[in-house]
Amino acid sequence: MGLIRRIVSLGKLAQPQPSLDPAREIRPDLSSGSLVLRHVDAGSCNGCEIELSACFSPIYDLESFGVSLTASPRHADGLVVTGVVTRNMQKPLMDAYIATPGPKAVVALGDCAINCNGLREGYGVTGAVADHLDVDLEIPGCPPEPAEIVAALRRVSKR
Ligand code: SF4
Repeated sequence: MGLIRRIVSLGKLAQPQPSLDPAREIRPDLSSGSLVLRHVDAGSCNGCEIELSACFSPIYDLESFGVSLTASPRHADGLVVTGVVTRNMQKPLMDAYIATPGPKAVVALGDCAINCNGLREGYGVTGAVADHLDVDLEIPGCPPEPAEIVAALRRVSKR
């Protein structure tokens, strides 16, 4: 009982919502209240994944704002894509997009996903995410900080 009283009296300890400025929104109005995303690593260095994982830690607590990840695109509202799109991941990315029920959102997370981050001429690179799919939200940075990711996705989940 003591622990429950302490939990109730402390309330939610998530950090306050950071500034929305870092995210550059292209096409808003994707969702309302919750946003379930399938993450696709199309060819990243894993830096963006580390920051995305941190968003779901108790410090940033992104799930408490209605945003969650799912293992299946069939259960998702959209995709969050990291990294340049590599030859090996182009088809899996398109397969995941096709398997996601519409209307669906595509989030390009990190500079590689947005503009290839200097890797466009690489022999294994087929382009940025926008070269393959309509991108609804860009979250720039190399990598973007968790606070920037949280702010951008909260803008979509509207919580
Ligand atoms: S944007 Fe930076 S951290 Fe993210 S995948 Fe590209 S190189 Fe790695």
